[in-house]
Amino acid sequence: MSKIYDVVILGAGPAGLAAGLYAGRARMSVLIVEKGKDGGQIAITDEIENYPGQIVEGESGPSLIARMTEQCEKFGVERVTDVINDVVLEGDVKKLISAKGEYCGKTLIIATGAFARPIGCKGEKEFMGKGVSYCATCDANFFEDFEVYVVGGGDSAVEEAMYLTKFARKVTIIHRRDELRAAKSIQEKAFKNPKLHFMWDTVVEEVGGDGILSEMTVKNVKTGELTKIVADEEDGMFGVFGFIGTLPSTKIFEGKGLELDERGYIPTDDNMKTNIPGVFAAGDVRVKSLRQVVTAAADGAIATTQCEKYINEME
Ligand code: NAP
Repeated sequence: MSKIYDVVILGAGPAGLAAGLYAGRARMSVLIVEKGKDGGQIAITDEIENYPGQIVEGESGPSLIARMTEQCEKFGVERVTDVINDVVLEGDVKKLISAKGEYCGKTLIIATGAFARPIGCKGEKEFMGKGVSYCATCDANFFEDFEVYVVGGGDSAVEEAMYLTKFARKVTIIHRRDELRAAKSIQEKAFKNPKLHFMWDTVVEEVGGDGILSEMTVKNVKTGELTKIVADEEDGMFGVFGFIGTLPSTKIFEGKGLELDERGYIPTDDNMKTNIPGVFAAGDVRVKSLRQVVTAAADGAIATTQCEKYINEME
């Protein structure tokens, strides 16, 4: 039988790392399981300005996360990189199962976060990585001096569009309404940016091209008018970045007794408790009103203190 940790945490984004830190500091045995790089969505964010106390000039997602990881290590948090494909949530021992084996805990914190929602247009899948992207930090440099389109009107779309203006010749935000959802402070910066343009009341119907993205059909949702956008002849291509919100990473929990809402997010109470005793959820994966690094970290801290309480009550 594998070692049974006090707390097993799935996901090493801000929620999982904060949970790990609190568990380590509370001298609980704790394991974080992460399939890729630490940080989750924040690892692909260029600039962070709203994490309280964050005063490092030009702080990026990766630099903040690197310090969180280091802090976990300092307090003895065990780490493993593995892809979990099955779970056992009910009962006294919670299990994360992979091709390599299983990881067991008296408690489990689900901190698997969320991922980019697809734009939902024709040709999107085919041109993923060939002009269609969901990560400006990862792909902006491919579009140095090219034209780029950003789909969405929230904080992510507008912030990432501004980031893309550092690389692209021209960036156009395509938004389905005539008003941005992004915070006013973000909008103010955006409207002052001379490289940033807006296509209002518009959605993307189809993307295409000959192997590389070079044409797109957009629709004005008010008039129904379709417009074909073709890449500048010299460029031969352009980029389309989708930032229309996120979907939760909860596929492996489906049918395992864990309550999920209609979009797949995990409902919890204020103490991060799910419907299954000993199973907690923290960060973007749970139903909540504000998905930020600070709220994810706070969730992680609360979840761990509740794990401790749960274990004490069980023993
Ligand atoms: P979001 O706030 O949900 O915004 C999604 C945007 O995509 C909205 O403008 C929405 O249009 C549009 N959209 C949704 N579905 C669409 C579709 N099918 N076709 C076309 N457009 C569609 O998502 P987000 O910007 O990724 O932000 C997620 C969370 O992270 C938010 O809580 C946000 O505040 C937070 N965040 C914060 C910061 C920051 O504080 N600096 C940075 C990034 C993200 P409508 O407006 O018409 O609904």
